[in-house]
Amino acid sequence: MTMQSLEYLFQPVTRIKGVGAASARTLSQLLPMQIQRRGDGVPIIRDLLFHLPTGLVDRRMVATLEKAPLGQLATYMLTVESYLPPSSRRFGRQPFKVICRDGTTDIILVFFHAREEWIKRMLPIGSRRAVSGVAEQFDFSLQMTHPDLIVPPDKLSEVLRVEPVYPLTAGLHGRQLEKLIQQALHALPEIPEWQPQPPALSFTEALRKAHLPQGEDDLLATSPARQRLIYDEILAQQYDLSTKRYRMKQQPSSMVVAGDAWIKQLEQSLPFSLTDDQQQALAEIRRDMASGRRMLRLLQGDVGSGKTLVALAAMLAVAAQGMQAALMVPSEILARQHECTIRNYLQEAGIATEVALLTGSVHGQKRTQIFEALAEGTLKLVVGTQALIQSQVSFASLALIVIDEQHRFGVNQRMALRFKAHAPHVLQMSATPIPRSLAMTLYGDMECSFLRTKPLGRKPVVTRVLPQSRSKEVVDRLAAALARGQKAYWICPWVEQAPQDDAAPAPAAVASSQADHDTATATTRFHEFKARFHDKVGLVHGRMPSQKREEVMQRFQSGEIQLLVATTVVEVGVDVPDATIMVIEQAQRFGLSTLHQLRGRVGRSSYESSCVLLYDEKPSLASSAGMVDSAMARLSILRDSNDGFIIADADLRQRGGGEIIGTRQSGQQPYVFASFPPDPDLVIKARDHAEARVTASSGNLSETSETLLMRLFLP
Ligand code: ADP
Ligand code: MG
Repeated sequence: MTMQSLEYLFQPVTRIKGVGAASARTLSQLLPMQIQRRGDGVPIIRDLLFHLPTGLVDRRMVATLEKAPLGQLATYMLTVESYLPPSSRRFGRQPFKVICRDGTTDIILVFFHAREEWIKRMLPIGSRRAVSGVAEQFDFSLQMTHPDLIVPPDKLSEVLRVEPVYPLTAGLHGRQLEKLIQQALHALPEIPEWQPQPPALSFTEALRKAHLPQGEDDLLATSPARQRLIYDEILAQQYDLSTKRYRMKQQPSSMVVAGDAWIKQLEQSLPFSLTDDQQQALAEIRRDMASGRRMLRLLQGDVGSGKTLVALAAMLAVAAQGMQAALMVPSEILARQHECTIRNYLQEAGIATEVALLTGSVHGQKRTQIFEALAEGTLKLVVGTQALIQSQVSFASLALIVIDEQHRFGVNQRMALRFKAHAPHVLQMSATPIPRSLAMTLYGDMECSFLRTKPLGRKPVVTRVLPQSRSKEVVDRLAAALARGQKAYWICPWVEQAPQDDAAPAPAAVASSQADHDTATATTRFHEFKARFHDKVGLVHGRMPSQKREEVMQRFQSGEIQLLVATTVVEVGVDVPDATIMVIEQAQRFGLSTLHQLRGRVGRSSYESSCVLLYDEKPSLASSAGMVDSAMARLSILRDSNDGFIIADADLRQRGGGEIIGTRQSGQQPYVFASFPPDPDLVIKARDHAEARVTASSGNLSETSETLLMRLFLP
């Protein structure tokens, strides 16, 4: 089995008879962007064959004129009677008409803007023709404007069939495209099987079938042909990721074996002990870093699961080894918070190493000092924002990079920090639990550790789902809680009246609604609450300058403010452990994962916490009663579970994970055949298989059918 059997698919489309440079250019407009083209911009035959029909036209119905199904597609056997050339040209161009009959009655074929010679050649007087198109009653006569097909009777079988309908582009006809595709399919050789349990259809057969749908079912992703292609695509991706993971693990990197003493000191200074999951994640990280091979690991843990301590312990191991570790976080607030937390931990534990903060607002001499200390290697631990990846920052011996809230960074930013050292260990952390299948897809090149259990002593957040009309009740109870000294968040989907800003998850017709509980904007609420609770209330949103935002957060943290009105800016990472109440207005507008994240802002201490999800029950906002029901059903998933992984999975299965990170990031549909996010069951199956094969072959799959598969599907 060689690459040769695939070569045909990698030939330029100009290899197909009838495709010249011009058609190749037209095709390049059409074929999916995710398929990589040859450098010269000419699509290859594979690209053409991966362009599947999105519809079909059934021309199998034959009718007589007398029983013509009006407005529907049918084929008629007609005899050409006479021509009716345009009568007058005075008021624009008149159509050319051809009168035909079939022994039952007459029909007028109507042609606008067609050349007379062409019409006469297609429809000579007295000839019999099969004519396919839509007949209509017009001014007491039967008419057909622009028949789709006109052929002599001996070619009837070419008409009486199901025609695939392709997405097209200017300068290309459907039938032309179909012909090219059929030619290419005809020349396509059988290709060696790469699926471990081969389905009934081979790859080639599946492609052929996908291009000749016989009914609507054949157009669906569930059809056997498309299922095969979808699985092939996912399998190719998993082979690729497994190979990358395997190779990455072969790269030499700093060996970190020290740290026992400091980590022990740290643990002993804590007022609690690490959870089993924290212990295990730390053990996995330290085992990787001690291997002398490179670590690339994703630590996934729900909000409040205690990722920071795991990261700190890993960083301490590196510092104890005499090397450097950097923690990069997405915002100034978080950077300060983490640096402060870490400083306290170090102090409490009596660990003799420094930690510094490097953000955009660290200026002057302080900044220079940090740069120097990092370059000399005297400073081992640094926490910062993107400021860490500036070109002036250089490290003497950066061995570990920790990236918190990793999905907030672009791939480039994550990569940039990696280049600060030769093959450093990388620990990415995510507080957005995503389904296993999606992790395998988005982060399939990394190993994963999970923190599933919450630290002991935490009480699950009691969640209630209430209609928006009961918000007054909620506010009254909130008032009582504030009077008892509790802290609360009140989340609104918008900052201001005009719902066009980025804080709005689903810009909708809210601006027009009147009643006060409809306008769930942070500023309105802030003013209402201000009137009632006075200076106990603060406001933060994404449009505020970050300095101002931080100031308010600080006052919330210190307790000066007890009620924080906010948009989703508080979604990630912010840590005010003694906040116990979370109210979310218009909760149906948020994705489950976002809601879960928001809820995670409370329940971070041993106090009883609660979360109220207010949903809008008015059909004017949800477009139908059905939507209200599904909003309720969605929200009840949150009421019934506190496990982020379960929620993420439910979110994925319910609404295709539209809210899930990664889609937002990538924007573009990354697959040709599969949908995004891909079917979880297929991903898991493909991953298991790929992992086993890659390991068994020691990462070297060259010249096997699996390599063919990868080559076929990957850019
Ligand atoms: P996240 O995973 O969301 O980043 P953090 O690391 O910020 O969570 O931890 C949240 C809170 O939980 C912190 O206040 C931290 O001190 C506390 N914490 C971490 N680990 C434990 C533990 N094993 N037992 C009790 N509390 C813990
Ligand atoms: Mg965190």
